[in-house]
Amino acid sequence: MFKPALQDGHNRSVSYVRISVTDRCNLRCSYCSAPTFLPHSRTQILSYEEILRLVRVLAGMGVDKVRLTGGEPLVRRHLDSLVARLNDIDGINDISLTTNGVLLEKQAAPLWAAGLRRVNISLDTLDPSRFKKITGRDYFARVLSGIKAALKIGFAPVKINVVVMRGVNDDELLAFAALTRKYPVHVRFIEYMPIGSSSLWNPADMVSGAQIIEQISNEMAVLEPVTVKLGGPARLYRLPGAPGKIGVITAMSNHFCDSCNRIRITADGHLRACLLSDNEFDLKEVLRAGGDLEKITEIVRQAVASKSAEHGLACNSERKCSRVMSTIGG
Ligand code: SAM
Repeated sequence: MFKPALQDGHNRSVSYVRISVTDRCNLRCSYCSAPTFLPHSRTQILSYEEILRLVRVLAGMGVDKVRLTGGEPLVRRHLDSLVARLNDIDGINDISLTTNGVLLEKQAAPLWAAGLRRVNISLDTLDPSRFKKITGRDYFARVLSGIKAALKIGFAPVKINVVVMRGVNDDELLAFAALTRKYPVHVRFIEYMPIGSSSLWNPADMVSGAQIIEQISNEMAVLEPVTVKLGGPARLYRLPGAPGKIGVITAMSNHFCDSCNRIRITADGHLRACLLSDNEFDLKEVLRAGGDLEKITEIVRQAVASKSAEHGLACNSERKCSRVMSTIGG
Protein backbone atom coordinates (compact mmCIF):
# COMPACT_ATOMS: atom_id res chain seq x y z
CA MET A 1 0.00 0.00 0.00
CA PHE A 2 1.43 3.41 -0.97
CA LYS A 3 1.79 5.76 1.96
CA PRO A 4 2.61 9.42 1.55
CA ALA A 5 5.64 10.29 3.64
CA LEU A 6 5.01 12.66 6.50
CA GLN A 7 7.55 15.29 5.60
CA ASP A 8 8.80 18.19 7.73
CA GLY A 9 10.12 21.50 6.48
CA HIS A 10 13.73 20.30 6.46
CA ASN A 11 13.45 17.31 4.13
CA ARG A 12 13.09 14.76 6.89
CA SER A 13 10.41 12.08 6.86
CA VAL A 14 8.65 11.29 10.10
CA SER A 15 7.98 7.58 10.51
CA TYR A 16 8.40 7.03 14.24
CA VAL A 17 6.17 7.96 17.17
CA ARG A 18 7.07 7.65 20.83
CA ILE A 19 4.02 7.49 23.04
CA SER A 20 4.04 8.14 26.75
CA VAL A 21 1.27 5.98 28.20
CA THR A 22 1.54 7.50 31.67
CA ASP A 23 3.54 10.15 33.47
CA ARG A 24 3.60 7.95 36.59
CA CYS A 25 6.68 6.11 37.64
CA ASN A 26 7.61 3.65 40.35
CA LEU A 27 11.05 5.26 40.70
CA ARG A 28 11.86 8.79 41.85
CA CYS A 29 15.05 9.55 39.96
CA SER A 30 16.40 12.86 41.20
CA TYR A 31 16.99 14.20 37.68
CA CYS A 32 13.76 12.99 36.09
CA SER A 33 10.75 12.83 38.43
CA ALA A 34 7.78 15.12 38.17
CA PRO A 35 6.66 16.63 41.50
CA THR A 36 3.07 15.44 40.95
CA PHE A 37 1.37 12.92 38.69
CA LEU A 38 -1.72 13.23 36.54
CA PRO A 39 -4.67 11.18 37.79
CA HIS A 40 -4.99 7.92 35.83
CA SER A 41 -8.54 8.86 35.02
CA ARG A 42 -9.95 9.23 31.56
CA THR A 43 -10.01 13.00 31.89
CA GLN A 44 -6.26 13.49 32.06
CA ILE A 45 -4.39 10.82 30.14
CA LEU A 46 -5.20 9.31 26.77
CA SER A 47 -7.19 6.09 26.96
CA TYR A 48 -5.94 3.05 25.04
CA GLU A 49 -8.82 3.59 22.59
CA GLU A 50 -7.65 7.15 21.96
CA ILE A 51 -4.03 6.05 21.53
CA LEU A 52 -5.12 3.40 19.03
CA ARG A 53 -7.26 5.86 17.10
CA LEU A 54 -4.34 8.25 16.90
CA VAL A 55 -1.88 5.57 15.82
CA ARG A 56 -4.27 4.44 13.07
CA VAL A 57 -4.25 7.99 11.72
CA LEU A 58 -0.46 8.22 12.01
CA ALA A 59 -0.03 4.86 10.29
CA GLY A 60 -2.09 6.20 7.41
CA MET A 61 0.34 9.11 7.22
CA GLY A 62 3.44 6.95 6.95
CA VAL A 63 4.38 6.20 10.57
CA ASP A 64 5.43 2.56 10.89
CA LYS A 65 7.28 2.49 14.18
CA VAL A 66 5.88 2.94 17.71
CA ARG A 67 7.72 3.07 21.02
CA LEU A 68 5.81 2.95 24.29
CA THR A 69 7.34 4.87 27.13
CA GLY A 70 6.42 7.01 30.13
CA GLY A 71 6.70 7.75 33.07
CA GLU A 72 7.01 4.04 33.56
CA PRO A 73 4.86 2.29 30.95
CA LEU A 74 4.65 -0.96 32.91
CA VAL A 75 2.73 0.72 35.76
CA ARG A 76 -0.21 1.21 33.38
CA ARG A 77 -2.51 -1.77 33.56
CA HIS A 78 -2.84 -4.25 30.70
CA LEU A 79 -0.08 -2.73 28.59
CA ASP A 80 0.18 -6.06 26.78
CA SER A 81 -3.35 -5.57 25.45
CA LEU A 82 -2.33 -2.22 23.97
CA VAL A 83 0.72 -3.84 22.35
CA ALA A 84 -1.43 -6.58 20.82
CA ARG A 85 -3.87 -4.07 19.37
CA LEU A 86 -1.10 -1.82 18.04
CA ASN A 87 0.31 -4.90 16.37
CA ASP A 88 -2.96 -5.33 14.50
CA ILE A 89 -2.78 -1.87 12.94
CA ASP A 90 -2.06 -2.00 9.25
CA GLY A 91 1.27 -0.32 8.54
CA ILE A 92 2.75 -0.57 12.04
CA ASN A 93 5.63 -2.99 11.81
CA ASP A 94 7.85 -2.17 14.76
CA ILE A 95 6.72 -1.82 18.37
CA SER A 96 9.19 -1.32 21.18
CA LEU A 97 9.20 -0.38 24.84
CA THR A 98 11.35 1.78 27.10
CA THR A 99 11.13 0.73 30.75
CA ASN A 100 13.02 0.97 34.00
CA GLY A 101 12.71 -2.83 34.22
CA VAL A 102 11.29 -2.92 37.76
CA LEU A 103 8.13 -4.75 36.67
CA LEU A 104 9.58 -6.48 33.64
CA GLU A 105 10.27 -9.92 35.10
CA LYS A 106 6.52 -10.62 35.41
CA GLN A 107 5.42 -8.75 32.30
CA ALA A 108 8.07 -9.92 29.84
CA ALA A 109 6.16 -13.08 28.86
CA PRO A 110 2.74 -11.43 28.27
CA LEU A 111 4.42 -8.60 26.34
CA TRP A 112 6.26 -11.10 24.18
CA ALA A 113 3.02 -12.99 23.58
CA ALA A 114 1.40 -9.69 22.55
CA GLY A 115 4.06 -9.23 19.87
CA LEU A 116 6.64 -6.99 21.51
CA ARG A 117 10.16 -7.88 20.38
CA ARG A 118 12.40 -5.01 21.42
CA VAL A 119 12.96 -3.49 24.83
CA ASN A 120 15.18 -0.73 26.20
CA ILE A 121 15.89 -0.83 29.91
CA SER A 122 17.17 2.21 31.79
CA LEU A 123 19.80 1.55 34.43
CA ASP A 124 22.22 4.20 35.64
CA THR A 125 24.28 2.15 38.09
CA LEU A 126 25.36 -1.40 38.83
CA ASP A 127 25.67 -0.68 42.52
CA PRO A 128 22.54 -1.50 44.58
CA SER A 129 23.06 1.22 47.20
CA ARG A 130 23.80 3.85 44.56
CA PHE A 131 20.70 2.68 42.70
CA LYS A 132 18.66 3.44 45.81
CA LYS A 133 20.28 6.84 46.12
CA ILE A 134 19.60 7.83 42.49
CA THR A 135 16.11 6.36 42.19
CA GLY A 136 14.81 6.65 45.76
CA ARG A 137 13.81 2.95 45.66
CA ASP A 138 15.55 -0.29 46.62
CA TYR A 139 14.67 -2.08 43.39
CA PHE A 140 18.06 -2.87 41.87
CA ALA A 141 17.57 -6.64 42.12
CA ARG A 142 14.19 -6.38 40.41
CA VAL A 143 15.71 -4.52 37.46
CA LEU A 144 18.41 -7.18 37.09
CA SER A 145 15.74 -9.89 37.13
CA GLY A 146 13.84 -7.92 34.48
CA ILE A 147 16.91 -7.73 32.24
CA LYS A 148 17.58 -11.45 32.68
CA ALA A 149 13.94 -12.30 31.91
CA ALA A 150 14.05 -10.18 28.74
CA LEU A 151 17.22 -11.94 27.55
CA LYS A 152 15.83 -15.37 28.39
CA ILE A 153 12.56 -14.83 26.54
CA GLY A 154 14.40 -13.67 23.44
CA PHE A 155 13.93 -9.90 23.17
CA ALA A 156 16.62 -8.69 20.80
CA PRO A 157 18.38 -6.50 21.09
CA VAL A 158 18.01 -5.78 24.79
CA LYS A 159 19.35 -2.25 25.16
CA ILE A 160 20.52 -0.90 28.50
CA ASN A 161 20.38 2.90 28.64
CA VAL A 162 22.73 4.66 31.04
CA VAL A 163 22.51 8.42 31.56
CA VAL A 164 26.05 9.44 32.47
CA MET A 165 26.31 12.14 35.14
CA ARG A 166 29.64 13.42 36.37
CA GLY A 167 30.26 12.64 40.01
CA VAL A 168 27.18 10.39 40.12
CA ASN A 169 27.96 7.33 37.96
CA ASP A 170 30.82 8.26 35.62
CA ASP A 171 33.10 5.91 37.57
CA GLU A 172 31.02 2.94 36.28
CA LEU A 173 31.66 3.23 32.55
CA LEU A 174 34.05 0.27 32.48
CA ALA A 175 31.75 -1.93 34.56
CA PHE A 176 28.87 -1.23 32.18
CA ALA A 177 31.08 -1.79 29.15
CA ALA A 178 32.18 -5.12 30.64
CA LEU A 179 28.55 -6.32 30.52
CA THR A 180 28.83 -6.44 26.74
CA ARG A 181 31.57 -9.07 27.05
CA LYS A 182 29.22 -11.33 28.97
CA TYR A 183 25.79 -10.65 27.45
CA PRO A 184 24.50 -9.81 23.93
CA VAL A 185 23.17 -6.47 25.16
CA HIS A 186 23.64 -2.98 23.76
CA VAL A 187 24.89 -0.72 26.54
CA ARG A 188 24.11 2.82 25.43
CA PHE A 189 25.61 5.75 27.28
CA ILE A 190 23.36 8.81 27.04
CA GLU A 191 24.55 12.38 27.48
CA TYR A 192 22.76 14.10 30.33
CA MET A 193 20.37 16.70 28.86
CA PRO A 194 18.93 19.93 30.28
CA ILE A 195 15.36 18.73 30.65
CA GLY A 196 12.89 20.14 33.17
CA SER A 197 12.97 23.77 34.23
CA SER A 198 13.77 22.87 37.82
CA SER A 199 16.19 20.19 36.76
CA LEU A 200 19.48 19.93 38.53
CA TRP A 201 21.27 19.97 35.19
CA ASN A 202 24.50 21.86 35.02
CA PRO A 203 26.82 21.89 32.00
CA ALA A 204 29.68 20.55 34.10
CA ASP A 205 27.65 17.43 34.97
CA MET A 206 27.58 16.23 31.38
CA VAL A 207 30.13 13.69 30.20
CA SER A 208 30.42 13.71 26.42
CA GLY A 209 30.17 10.64 24.22
CA ALA A 210 33.73 11.29 22.99
CA GLN A 211 35.05 11.26 26.56
CA ILE A 212 33.20 8.01 27.24
CA ILE A 213 34.59 6.26 24.15
CA GLU A 214 38.07 7.55 24.90
CA GLN A 215 38.04 6.25 28.46
CA ILE A 216 36.81 2.78 27.49
CA SER A 217 39.29 2.59 24.60
CA ASN A 218 42.18 3.67 26.83
CA GLU A 219 41.36 1.52 29.79
CA MET A 220 39.79 -1.63 28.31
CA ALA A 221 40.45 -2.12 24.61
CA VAL A 222 40.23 -0.04 21.46
CA LEU A 223 36.56 0.01 20.46
CA GLU A 224 35.65 -1.17 16.97
CA PRO A 225 32.95 0.89 15.21
CA VAL A 226 29.88 -1.14 14.25
CA THR A 227 27.15 -0.33 11.74
CA VAL A 228 23.70 -1.82 12.12
CA LYS A 229 20.89 -1.98 9.59
CA LEU A 230 18.21 -0.18 11.55
CA GLY A 231 20.34 2.12 13.65
CA GLY A 232 18.84 4.44 16.25
CA PRO A 233 20.55 7.63 17.38
CA ALA A 234 23.40 5.72 19.04
CA ARG A 235 26.85 5.46 17.50
CA LEU A 236 27.78 1.86 18.08
CA TYR A 237 31.05 0.14 18.90
CA ARG A 238 32.20 -3.24 20.10
CA LEU A 239 34.92 -4.47 22.41
CA PRO A 240 36.96 -6.96 20.36
CA GLY A 241 35.23 -10.35 20.44
CA ALA A 242 32.34 -9.17 22.63
CA PRO A 243 28.79 -10.41 21.90
CA GLY A 244 27.28 -7.10 22.97
CA LYS A 245 27.69 -3.55 21.72
CA ILE A 246 28.50 -0.20 23.26
CA GLY A 247 26.76 2.95 22.07
CA VAL A 248 26.86 6.65 22.79
CA ILE A 249 23.90 8.96 22.31
CA THR A 250 25.37 12.41 21.88
CA ALA A 251 22.26 14.59 21.84
CA MET A 252 24.25 17.45 23.37
CA SER A 253 27.83 17.32 22.10
CA ASN A 254 27.13 16.10 18.57
CA HIS A 255 23.43 16.10 17.89
CA PHE A 256 21.77 13.97 15.23
CA CYS A 257 18.84 16.28 14.44
CA ASP A 258 19.44 16.04 10.69
CA SER A 259 18.32 12.41 10.78
CA CYS A 260 15.46 12.93 13.26
CA ASN A 261 12.41 10.95 12.13
CA ARG A 262 10.34 11.08 15.31
CA ILE A 263 7.50 12.79 17.08
CA ARG A 264 6.32 12.32 20.63
CA ILE A 265 2.90 12.07 22.23
CA THR A 266 2.81 13.07 25.90
CA ALA A 267 0.66 11.15 28.37
CA ASP A 268 -1.83 14.01 28.35
CA GLY A 269 -2.17 13.85 24.59
CA HIS A 270 0.07 16.61 23.30
CA LEU A 271 2.22 16.16 20.25
CA ARG A 272 5.81 17.33 20.65
CA ALA A 273 7.72 17.54 17.40
CA CYS A 274 11.07 17.84 19.21
CA LEU A 275 12.06 16.41 22.59
CA LEU A 276 13.81 19.62 23.55
CA SER A 277 11.23 22.12 22.34
CA ASP A 278 8.22 23.13 24.41
CA ASN A 279 6.14 23.78 21.28
CA GLU A 280 3.20 21.37 21.73
CA PHE A 281 0.00 20.59 19.83
CA ASP A 282 -3.08 19.43 21.71
CA LEU A 283 -4.47 16.22 20.22
CA LYS A 284 -6.43 15.16 23.27
CA GLU A 285 -8.95 17.92 22.74
CA VAL A 286 -9.71 16.88 19.17
CA LEU A 287 -9.73 13.17 20.03
CA ARG A 288 -12.24 13.91 22.82
CA ALA A 289 -14.34 16.07 20.54
CA GLY A 290 -15.07 13.04 18.40
CA GLY A 291 -11.67 12.50 16.85
CA ASP A 292 -12.43 13.99 13.48
CA LEU A 293 -9.92 12.30 11.16
CA GLU A 294 -9.25 15.36 9.04
CA LYS A 295 -8.66 17.54 12.05
CA ILE A 296 -6.20 15.10 13.62
CA THR A 297 -4.37 14.78 10.30
CA GLU A 298 -4.21 18.53 9.98
CA ILE A 299 -2.76 19.03 13.49
CA VAL A 300 -0.18 16.30 12.91
CA ARG A 301 0.86 17.91 9.62
CA GLN A 302 1.10 21.33 11.27
CA ALA A 303 3.17 19.93 14.15
CA VAL A 304 5.52 18.08 11.82
CA ALA A 305 5.92 21.18 9.63
CA SER A 306 6.91 23.11 12.76
CA LYS A 307 9.80 20.76 13.55
CA SER A 308 12.89 22.91 13.85
CA ALA A 309 16.06 22.01 12.00
CA GLU A 310 17.90 21.36 15.26
CA HIS A 311 17.16 21.45 18.96
CA GLY A 312 19.56 24.32 19.55
CA LEU A 313 20.76 23.46 23.04
CA ALA A 314 24.52 23.68 23.12
CA CYS A 315 26.52 21.95 25.82
CA ASN A 316 26.85 25.12 27.85
CA SER A 317 23.25 26.23 27.38
CA GLU A 318 21.32 27.53 30.33
CA ARG A 319 18.02 27.00 28.51
CA LYS A 320 16.08 23.99 29.71
CA CYS A 321 12.87 22.62 28.33
CA SER A 322 10.17 23.00 30.93
CA ARG A 323 8.69 19.51 31.28
CA VAL A 324 10.74 16.84 33.00
CA MET A 325 11.45 13.72 30.95
CA SER A 326 8.92 11.57 32.82
CA THR A 327 6.06 13.77 31.61
CA ILE A 328 7.28 13.99 28.00
CA GLY A 329 8.11 10.36 27.48
CA GLY A 330 11.83 9.80 27.07
N1 SAM B 1 10.46 4.80 32.89
C1 SAM B 1 11.05 4.43 31.65
C2 SAM B 1 12.54 4.27 31.76
O1 SAM B 1 13.08 4.47 32.87
O2 SAM B 1 13.16 3.92 30.79
C3 SAM B 1 10.74 5.37 30.48
C4 SAM B 1 10.75 6.82 30.70
S1 SAM B 1 12.28 7.55 31.22
C5 SAM B 1 11.79 9.23 31.25
C6 SAM B 1 13.26 7.37 29.76
C7 SAM B 1 14.70 7.68 29.86
O3 SAM B 1 14.90 9.09 29.96
C8 SAM B 1 15.44 7.08 31.04
O4 SAM B 1 16.52 6.34 30.53
C9 SAM B 1 15.95 8.27 31.78
O5 SAM B 1 17.17 8.02 32.40
C10 SAM B 1 16.10 9.28 30.66
N2 SAM B 1 16.23 10.66 31.11
C11 SAM B 1 15.47 11.33 31.99
N3 SAM B 1 15.92 12.59 32.17
C12 SAM B 1 17.01 12.72 31.37
C13 SAM B 1 17.93 13.77 31.12
N4 SAM B 1 17.83 14.94 31.72
N5 SAM B 1 18.92 13.54 30.23
C14 SAM B 1 19.04 12.35 29.60
N6 SAM B 1 18.21 11.31 29.80
C15 SAM B 1 17.21 11.49 30.68
